[in-house]
Parts: sequence; C-alpha cells; structure tokens
Amino acid sequence: MKMLIRGVSVDKPGKLEVKNPLDNSTIDTVPSGSLQDTRKAILASHDAKGVMNSLTTRRISQLLYDIHQDLAGQLDEFAELITLETGKPIKDSKVEMERSLDTILLSAEESKRIYGETVPVDAGLGGEDALGFTVRIPVGVVSAITPFNYPVNLAIHKIAPAIAAKNTVVFKPSSKAPLTALKLAELMDSHLPDGVVNCLTGDGAVIGDEMVKSPLVNKVSFTGSVATGLSIAEKASLKKLTLELGGNDPLVVLEDADIADAVSATVKGAYLIAGQVCIAVKRVILDNSIADEFIEELVRSTKKLRLGDPLDHKTDIGPLIDAGAALQVEKLVDDAVSNGAEILCGGERDGTFYRPTVLDGVTPQMTIVQDETFGPIAPIIRVNGVDEAFNAANDTQFGLQAGVFTESIENAKKAIKTIEAGTVLINRSTFRTDNMPFGGFKMSGLGKEGVKYTVEDMTRTKLVIL
Ligand code: NAP
Repeated sequence: MKMLIRGVSVDKPGKLEVKNPLDNSTIDTVPSGSLQDTRKAILASHDAKGVMNSLTTRRISQLLYDIHQDLAGQLDEFAELITLETGKPIKDSKVEMERSLDTILLSAEESKRIYGETVPVDAGLGGEDALGFTVRIPVGVVSAITPFNYPVNLAIHKIAPAIAAKNTVVFKPSSKAPLTALKLAELMDSHLPDGVVNCLTGDGAVIGDEMVKSPLVNKVSFTGSVATGLSIAEKASLKKLTLELGGNDPLVVLEDADIADAVSATVKGAYLIAGQVCIAVKRVILDNSIADEFIEELVRSTKKLRLGDPLDHKTDIGPLIDAGAALQVEKLVDDAVSNGAEILCGGERDGTFYRPTVLDGVTPQMTIVQDETFGPIAPIIRVNGVDEAFNAANDTQFGLQAGVFTESIENAKKAIKTIEAGTVLINRSTFRTDNMPFGGFKMSGLGKEGVKYTVEDMTRTKLVIL
C-alpha cells in the first residue's frame, strides 16, 4: 500500500514489510516515509485548514455520515485485514469494526453540538456596556499517532472527532499494523477535501518526532506505550496534548463477591486479544477467604479457551503481535516463577502464541505486575481484607481502569473513593463504550478520549467582546 499526502498516493523505494503474526508471512509492504514526507504532509494539513473552516457544520456532519456508510459496506473486508495484520481473532476484529462505525456516528452527531456560551461581562468592573460570548474554533492541525492493537477504532477516535471540529489531520499508524489504517485514510480522503487527512508510514522516531515538534502542528493526540508518551511530552512544548498510555489494571475480588461473575470477568479481561489491551486485567487481587474457590474456577475456564488460526470464528486466542512480544511474555513468566510464583495452567510459548496462563503466588514486587505485561496472563495476588486489597490495587505507577467485585454497597463506595484510576468498575472488568470519557491517572496518561470529550479537546475557546 501507499502513503497518502494531499490526496495523492505516495510511494517510496524503501519499504517496510507488514507480517502476519500467525506465520510470519509478508502480507504487504508500506513505504518508509522520510522527514521530508512528514513535512509535506504537515504542510498539506496546514494548507487544508482554510477549506475545512469554510465548510458548514451541516456539511461536515453529512461527510461523516457518508464515511460511516461507506465503511459499513466494507466491514468484513476491514475486519479480515485487521486479523491478518494483528493476529486478532476475527470475532474480535468484527467487534472493533462495529465499534469503529459507532465512533464515526457519534462524531457525526457531536459535530452539531459544538457550542460557546454567553459571558456576563457586565457583572465585572468595567464591563457595564459590553456584551461577551465565546465561540469554539478548531485547533488546526492535529497529529494523530496510534498503536497496533486497535488499528482502526483508535485511529477513528482521533480522526473523526478532529474532522467533526473542522480540523485537519496528519496520521501515523503503528508500523506493526499500518494496512487497515492506510485503507481507512484512503476511504476518508475520498469523501474529504485533499489534505484534510494525510497518512504516513515509516519509522516512528523519525516521522513521529517531526509530527510532535513541527510549529505547524497545533495538537498532538497519542495512544501507545508510556515510554513513547513520555518522550512526546518532553518535545511537545506548548501544543495541546492528549496521551492515552499503558495500564496495569487490577481486578479485585472481595470476600462477598459473586465468584462466577468475577471469574468470567477475569477470563474476558485478562485474555481478550491475548491480553494485548491497555485495559486488560493485569493483576487479579483475591481475598484469601475466596481465593481457592475462585482459582479453581478460573483454571477450569482458562483451559477451555481455544487457541488457533485467528481467521477461524471459533478461535478465542490468536498469536501475539510478533515473536519478540511472545518472548517477552515468556521471560516475565519465567522471572515470576524463579521468584516463587506457580504456574497453574498455561505457561507455554509456541512461536508467536502464548497459552493463557494462571499464575498463583505472585507478589507485588515481581516485574510481571510492576510493569505492563502485554500477554494472556492472570497473575494472582492474595490479600487479607478490603484495605489490603485496595492498597494492592493502588500499588502501581499506572491508573487506567480498576474492577472491584463485591455485593456490598459499602465496599463499592469505599472502592470508588479509594482507588486511583480513570475508571472504577463495580462488578465488571475491561469496559469501554466509545462515548464515555476514557483515560488514565498517573503514568496511564493525560486527558480523556471519547467522542464528546475529544471534540471538546480539539477546539479552542475564543472570547468575543462587543
Ligand atoms: P508504541 O510502541 O508506543 O507505538 C505507538 C505509536 O508511536 C506507533 O505508531 C509508533 O510508531 C509511534 N512512535 C514510536 N516512536 C515514536 C516517537 N519517538 N515519537 C512519536 N511516535 C513514535 O506502542 P505499541 O506497542 O504500538 O502499543 C502498545 C501500547 O499502547 C501499550 O502500552 C498499551 O497499553 C498502549 N495502549 C493504550 C491505549 C489507551 O487508550 N490508553 C489503547 C491502546 C494501547 P512505530 O510503530 O513506527 O514505531
């Protein structure tokens, strides 16, 4: 496939190969874009600001509805390509596409709800004969940088609200999964004025760096790892910045929890797309009084999961994104075992596959629960009582989501008050709708996404005094 700059497909002699994680075969190549290409794309976005601003809100909304309709007609094609380039089970790729359509629809609706407000300046000294109101205007050029795990929906979470607020976009998808992103950019471009959506592929450090530093860029919206997010934060200067970073989400099961519900939430949360989800359950914190019963059921349910070809509709667990990712998970499990943890099921790697694993006897000091583990692991940390459980939940540098299972309203209230996370879930795990304010505390990021919140963030407030 080719890059997209100012409405034109751009190729380069240098290519990156896009591999299928299932068998390491090459699916396609993408151009290795340069610093000059990045500058051209940013300039194209800059030049397209005027035409976007000249469109009526009614027209912008209609364009988003048109994009929605076009994409809806290609749902199966996109889902299959997501599966080929990421190894995500096809049933989960279809869910991603259905959510992606929802995100565009929400953006089309939200584009008509960008309001300013009247300001009673005559309440202030000197404002007696003045009339004040605010208008919300586009930020301008948005740099959108995305990771591999939800290559379509995470891109749409940035691009569709940016368009809704009449911005232009330079978009860089992950080098591990750029194909669906390029296809999406092409589809959007066919409905929009040239230069409104530009898509670059190539080395993240070269392209990303310019997308963050360029004085022509007004906002940077990044989803990815903490390490990359921190380097962006250092370079972004005074640009508006949204950082959706990693997580280390706890799922706490208290003495009075419904065990069956908590087990099924753990299975869904820890193993969804082989654990490569920012809001995956990454630590299972169990009250000792229910731990044995919970673990027995969890092991039974974990063993039922079916590994295999992600294009097979019956597959629950596909490969990890590449061999390096699977080796890293193996290393973390081995490290935990050498420090005293016990594998109750799983614990085996086969190429890019890692079998869903229940690990008992994990302590908060182990690397597997200190850092973000991107793999299908359920590490069990045993505690005694509510206070110890919530302390363990907070004992992390991250704060994206936290789930607490309890039948007690008092425990639920305490969890809501105590746990430091962008979302606290009661009797649920791993939850996102595309309109909710999504984003973490601590090292998990800065700002919120979710269509209404993203649209707001992609505008500036101008005060008018008459
Ligand atoms: P990553 O390695 O940080 O890459 C993310 C993006 O950043 C890629 O497009 C990458 O390009 C680009 N990049 C690399 N170096 C850059 C630089 N110096 N400046 C600007 N951009 C640069 O993340 P990943 O491995 O793809 O994704 C997994 C991570 O994303 C996990 O930590 C996960 O928790 C997080 N995530 C967070 C959320 C959320 O909403 N909070 C959602 C999904 C995933 P290249 O691929 O070309 O290097």
